[in-house]
Amino acid sequence: MLKSDSAGRSEAPSASGQPVTPMMEQFIEIKAANPDCLLFYRMGDFYELFFDDAEVASRALGIVLTKRGKHLGRDIPMCGVPVERADEYLHRLIALGHRVAVCEQLEDPAEARKRGAKSVVRRDVVRLVTPGTLTEDSLLDARRNNYLLALARARMSSTEDRFAFAWIDISTGEFRVAESDRAGLAAEIARIEPGEIIVSDALYADAEIAPQLRALLAVTPLARDLFDGATAERRLAAFFGVATTAAFGAFSRVELTAAAAAVTYVERTQIGKHPPLSPPVREAAGATLAIDQATRSNLELMRTLSGERRGSLLAAIDRTVTPAGSRTLAQRLAAPLTDPSEIAHRLDAVAAFVADAHARADLRERLKSAPDLARALSRLVVGRGGPRDLAAIRDGILAASAIVERIAALGAASRDIQRALKALSQPDGALAAELSRSLADELPAFRRDGGFIRAGCEQALDEARALRDESRRVVAALQVRYAETTGIRSLKIRHNNVLGYFVDVTAQHGDKLLSAPLNATFIHRQTLAGQVRFTTIELGELEARIANAADRALALELETFDRLAAAVTAASGAIMAAAEALAAVDVAAALASLAVERDYVRPEVDASRAFAISGGRHPVVEQALGKDGGPFIANDCDLSPPSVADGKEATGRIWLVTGPNMAGKSTFLRQNALIAVLAQMGSFVPARAARIGVVDRLFSRVGAADDLARGRSTFMVEMVETAAILNQAGERALVILDEIGRGTATFDGLSIAWATIEHLHENNRCRALFATHFHEMTALAAKLPRLHNATMRVKEWQGEVVFLHEVVAGAADRSYGIKVAKLAGLPPSVIERAKHVLAQLEAEDRSSRARRLIDDLPLFAARPASAPTPPRDAALTALIEALTALHPDEMSPRDALEALYALKAQFAKTRNAD
Ligand code: ADP
Ligand code: MG
Repeated sequence: MLKSDSAGRSEAPSASGQPVTPMMEQFIEIKAANPDCLLFYRMGDFYELFFDDAEVASRALGIVLTKRGKHLGRDIPMCGVPVERADEYLHRLIALGHRVAVCEQLEDPAEARKRGAKSVVRRDVVRLVTPGTLTEDSLLDARRNNYLLALARARMSSTEDRFAFAWIDISTGEFRVAESDRAGLAAEIARIEPGEIIVSDALYADAEIAPQLRALLAVTPLARDLFDGATAERRLAAFFGVATTAAFGAFSRVELTAAAAAVTYVERTQIGKHPPLSPPVREAAGATLAIDQATRSNLELMRTLSGERRGSLLAAIDRTVTPAGSRTLAQRLAAPLTDPSEIAHRLDAVAAFVADAHARADLRERLKSAPDLARALSRLVVGRGGPRDLAAIRDGILAASAIVERIAALGAASRDIQRALKALSQPDGALAAELSRSLADELPAFRRDGGFIRAGCEQALDEARALRDESRRVVAALQVRYAETTGIRSLKIRHNNVLGYFVDVTAQHGDKLLSAPLNATFIHRQTLAGQVRFTTIELGELEARIANAADRALALELETFDRLAAAVTAASGAIMAAAEALAAVDVAAALASLAVERDYVRPEVDASRAFAISGGRHPVVEQALGKDGGPFIANDCDLSPPSVADGKEATGRIWLVTGPNMAGKSTFLRQNALIAVLAQMGSFVPARAARIGVVDRLFSRVGAADDLARGRSTFMVEMVETAAILNQAGERALVILDEIGRGTATFDGLSIAWATIEHLHENNRCRALFATHFHEMTALAAKLPRLHNATMRVKEWQGEVVFLHEVVAGAADRSYGIKVAKLAGLPPSVIERAKHVLAQLEAEDRSSRARRLIDDLPLFAARPASAPTPPRDAALTALIEALTALHPDEMSPRDALEALYALKAQFAKTRNAD
């Protein structure tokens, strides 16, 4: 129907006196209003890009760059994508970090022609496509939320900033707000994983924040007016059509600013369309377990170190059967709770489904065919929905009421299930019934395809369709008649968008129709290589009739569509609540299914400082081993405070885990962290029993040498991250340190590991697990009362080492490095020599070095503000560092002499200090 511009080439003088076509003038005006976007300019069946946009897009998409006319004397570069495949191209451009303004024709070209031959079809931008504001299934990952995050800052004083986050998934309607300080900024962003972040120009230019922001993907700086605190509350209220936002809860000023920026941006990108957002929900500070970015990637919660979902904790525990359930599960895993009673409510729901296998199976079977209600709803409300989205609403509502029946009995056992039941019964059954009545059985992908309204449901539509189909039969009859009268049996009547209906004959028959007497009836239209095409007066008339009837039928269908979409929009609140409830019961049943399948137990989460896991297993490694047949060895871990009668010592313990390489230290450390995460997200856990005093912050770090996958395995990173832990971990934190101090020389490493443990024990006073290969450190247990030595049991069998993966009390007395070396096939002579050297070293050095350190400890004189390092070692270290820094080959003799003097002076100072 939409043809390209008729007036595209007529010329008008530009400001500079050069001729500019009216169409180019229109293009330039629209482009000027959207300078930061690639402009998809609709021309007929294509979106065309011009000038720089064309060059950028043709490179990015690998499509041909052509020319169209001239502008100011120069060729205009152009490329285009067919409207039908636009989603696919949009997807690629968005993934590459581009933003796209979609400019549509707002009238039929025929309308434009009525205004005069030179007038241009009216066009305007109907939508900005940005990474954080997508709604199409083809542009989204079904199992992940896609958040737009607005970040606002409030200056509290010259030294203190507060930050507010508002994040929205316009494809599901979720809208949350939270506040944080400067230190928590990175962790919050890591938790939310937004597809796009918007900030004010000022914040984007801020020297302190900018480096952090610019390292992130898809950060959009915006003019200040979006982040204007003075108008924030008014804009937010206006978006939701309420007089004041007070009903949504109490928000701080900076939170209102972020929330208003987010909705204003949504309005701007959707050009006035309002996606169905829930009112903003405020997340109280500390309501979720704080997990920083390094810990998240280290524990491989959502994806592995190499970036894949497979192999992550999420993949290992995800038994959901709907995409919405999968998204909710991911949200819960990203943000475990800290309130024991909320956690207990979630666990109640899981327990209810564990107890009732029948209801569980029944529900999961029913859910499997339930549609993605939230995303269909959001598309319909913003006017981007299709017939299948209407069907999704119908099926979703029907599924919700069917589910209510199936799990009604479980409501008594769980508050969360009861709430879900209430939400599931909310949507109006009449709406579903009307959709059932109206929608055809087979539905096309797009509204424009037509044919989605059931026959017999609207009289006017049925009539128009009858007329259209009748005429089509007349065309078929006409073809038979023409074939007879011309004697050309292969004559066909065909249709295409350019010619409409036409008579098609092969070239060999063309002449017959071109000459008398048949040329009186058949009017030549087109000659192709193998075909000649004609029309007739009769065919022309028929065509007009068919087109009219078809147009009328489609117009009637679209009217009905809009009416149904409006009814859905009016019910959006109830539909959204039902969608959320479907996801929640999916998650509860899925976690129950996991618990039964893998023999997980309900954890006890309370306000104590306990951490007692018996028979714990690693949820991911266990499943990986399961496939190859090897059993996973369960292990206990107890970091609970030693029970002291007077109750003074209420602080948790630190376990120091030693043992050879490959014995299972890292696995043991991580499994305990993962059990805490699972328990607090409201899942059963892989253990025989678990009691956990709620954890408020979780830290996990791996020594640099182990941390190859991150591609920046420097000692510096390791130290920066360790510093963050020592500065931030409070008494409720759980800290996992795996071979800290590996990335440097032995003495350095040992000293740092040593001092770190002391600091954790004396200052942070948190529960911690510390794996190390420095056996010397086990001596610390003698002086630090809450430090417990644990080791991985290893068996020697016929001169070989066998790893039992069993954690027992005590210290590893030897590293087994030589045994492992032997296993690896080092030559026997080397092994023999190494054994000899080891025996000597052990006799001379090992015990004495550790004892010396212990005796020097100033630990119990006072709680050290900073960790003590024996002065002799510090000086020695400095000296070694100075020596290492020298490069004799690059020095002049004079420099070398000076360096020697300097070293001697440094050494003399060390001796005096002693
Ligand atoms: P370490 O950190 O001591 O070098 P890892 O924790 O990396 O050892 O474990 C090495 C391998 O041993 C793991 O990849 C795993 O396959 C296996 N493993 C670890 N713990 C266990 C266990 N409890 N039961 C069975 N196999 C285990
Ligand atoms: Mg390890």
